[in-house]
Amino acid sequence: MGNKLLLTLVICRLIIVIPGLPIDGKLSIDPNDVEQASLDFGLLTRRQPLAVLHPGSAQDVARLVKAAYGSNQGFTVSARGHGHSTNGQAQTRNGVVIQMSRSNEGSELESGSKPPRPRVWAREMYVDVWGGELWIDVLKSSLEYGLAPKSWTDYLYLSVGGTLSNAGISGQAFNHGPQISNVHELDVVTGKGELLTCSEDQNPELFHAVLGGLGQFGIITRARISLEPAPQRVRWIRVLYSDFSVFTGDQEHLISLHAQPGHQKFDYVEGFVILDEGLINNWRSSFFSPQNPVIVTGRVLYCLEIAKNYHEYSAQTIDQDVESLLKKLNFISTSVFTTDLLYVDFLDRVHKSELKLRSKGLWEVPHPWLNLFVPKSRIAEFDEGVFKVILGNKTSGPILIYPMNRDKWERRSSVVTPDEGVFYLVALLRSASENGEEGQSLEYLIDQNRRILRYCDEAGIKVKQYLPHYTRQQEWMDHFGSKWDWFSEMKREFDPRHILATGQQIFTPTS
Ligand code: FAD
Repeated sequence: MGNKLLLTLVICRLIIVIPGLPIDGKLSIDPNDVEQASLDFGLLTRRQPLAVLHPGSAQDVARLVKAAYGSNQGFTVSARGHGHSTNGQAQTRNGVVIQMSRSNEGSELESGSKPPRPRVWAREMYVDVWGGELWIDVLKSSLEYGLAPKSWTDYLYLSVGGTLSNAGISGQAFNHGPQISNVHELDVVTGKGELLTCSEDQNPELFHAVLGGLGQFGIITRARISLEPAPQRVRWIRVLYSDFSVFTGDQEHLISLHAQPGHQKFDYVEGFVILDEGLINNWRSSFFSPQNPVIVTGRVLYCLEIAKNYHEYSAQTIDQDVESLLKKLNFISTSVFTTDLLYVDFLDRVHKSELKLRSKGLWEVPHPWLNLFVPKSRIAEFDEGVFKVILGNKTSGPILIYPMNRDKWERRSSVVTPDEGVFYLVALLRSASENGEEGQSLEYLIDQNRRILRYCDEAGIKVKQYLPHYTRQQEWMDHFGSKWDWFSEMKREFDPRHILATGQQIFTPTS
């Protein structure tokens, strides 16, 4: 009997057959399940697990991890949220993937328990959600009570556990901080199989380690997320700049307004770089229509994207409020693109583009994404060296750029950012063309990413990768810098056999 088959049988026996270890959900070795768990959005890495657990409860997660921790032979366990990583972070070879999201309807349990649905605590203004819940479903449940989470990602078909393991950022982060700054409490299954509740006051080390912890210390089975009254509508505006320093000056002005209570401010501040006609075709472009054409004349343009939320009862003043905020900005005066839409449609905007791209076969293609946090003091050099030189005039996907305030990020969490009061996210969200178009092949884009990192390194621009991807421990040590010792100590404490989230390639399982 092959080793793989033997190990699969051992795992099945451990979690199903042994009395006292019943499971509420389903352990699957169905080839479709296994195949899906072997891949992710990036389509760059493929690791095949032995089995996939569809948990019915947090106890299922705990039983599986405990079995892995206690078994002589040992096997790895990776939580998979919605598999929207790009470098195999939720995969594991020869172990078990726990499919936390409910999205895989085909494999959902016909009978038996399912993870709990979101529970809104309207008076307390928070919601308890299953770790695999997608943000779109968190939004829908909260809206039933007229409430909504405060901090978002641009795309809502991501799981709560998946984004909290990174940070979870979008144009609200300057004001509310990343999603990890908006969590009151977590239930976590550690690498020893213990199910623990943690918060600022209870098991605080575990709480801070798990937030931004890349899945290294435990599997989030419940998160208590802070809510606010949900606005009904959004005024969404895009304006253009040809001068980078004017563009960033305006972005920095807008995010500084968070520190002035009572002062009018936009609720969302992002931006992107326009290098070519690609803007018209990419998944952030639905906003610009044939009636609203954008003509790019061979130079780099920058688009500031801002939004103001409002309630229907304040609809009379929204024009005036927006007007007075825009007056203080220095964009190209003829370049104002405005739209007005429901709050839910604004938050779910990227999904529309996803459906369009899917229908053209352009969604399930390799995604060699590179996300960087760049210190404010070096962002102009980054523009000169990367946007104006290395990228040439083909982007192959959106390039986001927006600043955030460091004081909205909890220093005790696992996430690392540049050590400056303001830093930028630069997200190169590129898709490789499968027909090998010049400048858009996978090899070309991967090489370009390397050149960007090398340029930053040689220029001494101390960037930090967001959604980091490294393959050697020394690179991880450099990434975490002064947090590394603490990070490894937390690993020893909460996942001593290095069972969890091995797809991140930070620690090697001890077997
Ligand atoms: P997965 O890819 O399934 O998992 C990611 C990591 O988290 C893995 O290591 C996994 O083991 C671990 N993990 C998963 N679930 C749990 C859990 N319950 N407990 C502990 N660990 C867990 N990010 C942003 O911040 N802002 C954005 O605007 C944004 N937009 C995106 C748009 C698209 C189209 C895509 C594909 C990604 C985007 N991302 C964005 C990145 C995204 O937040 C991360 O890739 C995130 O990890 C994906 O969530 P997931 O549920 O698919 O996680």
